[in-house]
Amino acid sequence: MLKWLDVIKYANNGNPAPDKRVEKTEKEWKALLTEEQFNVTRLKGTEHAFSSDLCSYFEPGRYTCVCCGTALFDSDTKFESGTGWPSFTQPIQENAVAYHKDSTFGMVRIEALCNTCDAHLGHVFQDGPMPSGLRYCMNAVSLKKVDVSEKKVDLGGGCFWCTEAIFQRLKGVIKVESGYSGGKITNPTYREVCSGATGHAEMIEVTYNPNEISFDDLLRIHLSTHNPTTVDEQGADQGSQYRSIIFYRTEDEKQAAMKVIDEVQKSYLDMIVTQIEMFEHFYKAEDYHQDYYNKNPDGGYCQAIIDPKLSKFRELYNDKIK
Ligand SMILES: [Zn+2]
Repeated sequence: MLKWLDVIKYANNGNPAPDKRVEKTEKEWKALLTEEQFNVTRLKGTEHAFSSDLCSYFEPGRYTCVCCGTALFDSDTKFESGTGWPSFTQPIQENAVAYHKDSTFGMVRIEALCNTCDAHLGHVFQDGPMPSGLRYCMNAVSLKKVDVSEKKVDLGGGCFWCTEAIFQRLKGVIKVESGYSGGKITNPTYREVCSGATGHAEMIEVTYNPNEISFDDLLRIHLSTHNPTTVDEQGADQGSQYRSIIFYRTEDEKQAAMKVIDEVQKSYLDMIVTQIEMFEHFYKAEDYHQDYYNKNPDGGYCQAIIDPKLSKFRELYNDKIK
């Protein structure tokens, strides 16, 4: 998650590389865009405050760049700022937006641009709500609302071979990746994480369609398919990399996680020790850890450990399985 210091660093030292670049001539952009879109995105104009309904629009979906179609923001991070411009707390990906120092009008501000095509979007300020504290103050004409809805949640519940196998089988789950979060170094290897010294937990990142399965249901399933009452321990696996943990991306998700834990606590005699932490980074694990159960169903670990967990999961959640 980007914070104000990251934004300053990018504006001062250069922006992260985008996934791709789109470059066109002024004439080509003019042919593609309306006059207002062209004036704001290519000539760094500003639309009048309260000129768009987009400010008070909070339906699920994504906001893409009106020039090149790159996804810039998720509606999850949109909030009512009262400024008259659509406002967000975080871009959809760290390399989606580029930052430049803007010293026009006798002020020093941070300009936000599409990192793919350099479209002017608006400015970023440090007076936004938590968890990021950022306010991306955007021109509505620079954005296009797309209704496709896809969200991510990052969960730790012991060995990721097990948790991945369970979540892959749920209706509404689009993709599950195994990896590491919550530690001190970037791009850790499996060996480093296993040493317990990096502080990372074995995690899965679940991409899902919130119209088909809710965030709350994903957490209920998570908390009932591993043991959330043991500290740094899951069955025979011991160490902080096996801790039970839920990462949230918004304040609403944090509140929802606390509520679901309270609710699920009733079905456990011991206290639930699952950590609830703000999402920072997910580092995808090595290829041989991905899709492990499906690729190795006859393996000893899969038969001895994962099969019984899947049987219990099928009993509990038969109606939610693909
Ligand atoms: Zn763009």
